[in-house]
Amino acid sequence: MTTLLRGRLLSFKRAPQGLDDTDSYTYESDGGLLIENGIIAAIGPYATIKAQAPGDVTEVDHRPHLILPGLIDMHLHFPQMQVIASYAANLLEWLNTYTFPEECRFVESAHAERIATHFYNELIRHGTTTAVAYCSVHKTSADAFFSEAMRRNMRMVGGKVMMDRHAPQGLLDTPETGYDETREVIADWHGRGRNHVAITPRFAITSTPAQMEATAALAREFPDLHIQTHLSENHDEIAQAHRAAVVRVVRHFPQMAKHVFRRDATGARRSLALGALRRRSVGVKPAGQTQNRSAFSARRRRTQHRVRALLSRVSNGALGGPTRL
Ligand SMILES: [Zn+2]
Repeated sequence: MTTLLRGRLLSFKRAPQGLDDTDSYTYESDGGLLIENGIIAAIGPYATIKAQAPGDVTEVDHRPHLILPGLIDMHLHFPQMQVIASYAANLLEWLNTYTFPEECRFVESAHAERIATHFYNELIRHGTTTAVAYCSVHKTSADAFFSEAMRRNMRMVGGKVMMDRHAPQGLLDTPETGYDETREVIADWHGRGRNHVAITPRFAITSTPAQMEATAALAREFPDLHIQTHLSENHDEIAQAHRAAVVRVVRHFPQMAKHVFRRDATGARRSLALGALRRRSVGVKPAGQTQNRSAFSARRRRTQHRVRALLSRVSNGALGGPTRL
């Protein structure tokens, strides 16, 4: 079966070096795109492509719309399909109210598989053909995520989340089970179809130092794998991560305590590094499926620091999209 799409065609050959780098892309104001049995066979000016198409070709006229290659979403959470755009004042409240309860359900394969179908339908519906995703802590969620990607022959990057503290019991692994199950996901899925596994410690607050050491062991064993995680995106989160880090420093390196704390004018003991962290804070976590104020403020900071990301609509909730930050 052969199909000819007609419309404005835009495709990139490489990353643009600037606004006037017109060699980095091809654009046809009246373009033709010939598809034979699901594979792109030719692309160019409509008249040229039409001339080489078989007589019984099926034509679909998309003018004046733009035809683009599939979008790539660099950050989303597969188990959060059902809570996209739920409102909360900040990330931690959003996690505890909506996200963690929903992620608990992914221990059941039937639920994970049902949401996987919905998840990929939504990705495709919004033009996203590849994504870098977090599954839940359960291996069942990674199995559903990768198995459905393989069935659709989509290129996906994903990982079983590792977290062993500060979450409901049903969402916690341990340094040992997080390590073992990540290895199982790698053995079962990495390189199968077009799947890539990413090592996925969720964020600083939810992984103990022991789990981070297990993460480092995985990274050494599998140096070709991607690693994904989150940076802190608001002051509460930074403070909580910082407290955990300070406790660890004081516990393991008591001789360093005097460098971590100082006394202010009132005699109260203050942490030195917290202020420094606050001044340097820049969120790089995309707004994701959250709809909360901290994500918005992180977005402003990213703009100031010229950090850019392209988000697809499915990961962007009520913010609309695609959105370039
Ligand atoms: Zn995220």
